[in-house]
Amino acid sequence: MTSRPSDIIVVGAGVVGCAVAYELARRGVSVEIIDDRPVGMGATQASAGVLAPYIEAPADGPLLNLTARSLDLFDDFVARVSAESGTLVPYRRTGTLDVAVDDAGLRALRAQAEALARRGVPALMLDAAAARTEEPHLGDGIIGGLLIDAHGFVGASDLTRALVTAARRHGAQLVEQSRVRRITHLHDELIVDTDRGSLTADAAVLAAGSWCGEIEIGGLSPRVPVRPIRGQLLSIAWTGTPLRRVTWSHRCYVVPWDDGTVLVGATVEDAGFDERTTVAGVRDLLDAACEILPHAWTAGFRGARVGLRPSTSDHLPIIGASSIVPNLMYATGHYRNGVLLAPLTAQLVADALLDGHVDPMLAAVSPSRFGEL
Ligand SMILES: Cc1cc2nc3c(=O)[nH]c(=O)nc-3n(C[C@H](O)[C@H](O)[C@H](O)COP(=O)(O)OP(=O)(O)OC[C@H]3O[C@@H](n4cnc5c(N)ncnc54)[C@H](O)[C@@H]3O)c2cc1C
Repeated sequence: MTSRPSDIIVVGAGVVGCAVAYELARRGVSVEIIDDRPVGMGATQASAGVLAPYIEAPADGPLLNLTARSLDLFDDFVARVSAESGTLVPYRRTGTLDVAVDDAGLRALRAQAEALARRGVPALMLDAAAARTEEPHLGDGIIGGLLIDAHGFVGASDLTRALVTAARRHGAQLVEQSRVRRITHLHDELIVDTDRGSLTADAAVLAAGSWCGEIEIGGLSPRVPVRPIRGQLLSIAWTGTPLRRVTWSHRCYVVPWDDGTVLVGATVEDAGFDERTTVAGVRDLLDAACEILPHAWTAGFRGARVGLRPSTSDHLPIIGASSIVPNLMYATGHYRNGVLLAPLTAQLVADALLDGHVDPMLAAVSPSRFGEL
């Protein structure tokens, strides 16, 4: 990047693209967000919004470092986006209770508790009785649990809409129903070709989730190595005493909202770009939820949603500058943690694009690990 870009196109209005657009707009850049769907209607609308780095990334490594750092940003991020958008983003830090139903599961939780202790993260190992005291709805098959207080959840769709509203208040423009086909560089400008004409900008950020691999970069055939992994998620209407916090097992997680809505997620399926909910997905999730929380049998069934998680071969995101097209940045491949990683991604992308500051954490998620990109 030779000079600070003053106008930037963000491709994709999912949680990642909207967070990036918001961060760039609030730092004074002119931003256009382009999507062929309405805001947040990719993987983001299906997300449970769980913020749980110490379950999602239990082993030391780049994913844990990134997700834990992003979690630390969340209190301020949600407060600021709520204030600047004038909307209340639902957000809770109630912790998670990860439960075991067999000895192998219990051993895994104990190992995780020890790893967290080494990292200085508060976590409490519970026997069956203590776990049931923490969550009276737990079924008889639960033999122990691990309580991690730092975790929480956020309304992913509300957050994404609030990000767009706040970005627009900072001057960003939203271009809907427009599909990007190609991004090339010509005479110090980026040309973004869409099915409704071409746009130019000083720089662009590719945040098109699972569909990034369909866009031509620098006149070459599409090849961003992101592939869709389908996730189905249920919404049920809880009855009686509410659940206290996110309950997690080896087969599902269960997220209680204040209004009695409980989310049950999520399947992990290699089904290409097929965005259907299935009987098998719904049945498996209901079985899994009822195994740990038998009272779920009495709940009303509200519906199922589905989304395509943008996945990479090493399950790390792709964040950083293109080696083929100057002034093009990638912000994709967030797989199971796009909501959790949104604030940090936005910050790292804006720092790199606007200030030329490449955070050391970007080394592990650089596009260059997949060759010329
Ligand atoms: C069931 C389920 C549960 C999940 N639970 C969690 C969770 O609890 N916590 C968490 O952190 N993450 C969770 N995730 C993962 C999270 O939802 C994703 O990582 C995140 O939504 C990815 O955001 P994104 O903006 O990169 O992609 P998307 O939300 O998919 O957005 C990409 C956008 O790009 C647009 N687009 C694509 N191609 C083009 C094009 N050519 N031109 C213009 N626009 C284009 C799409 O229309 C879409 O709106 C879950 C995912 C699923 C499916």
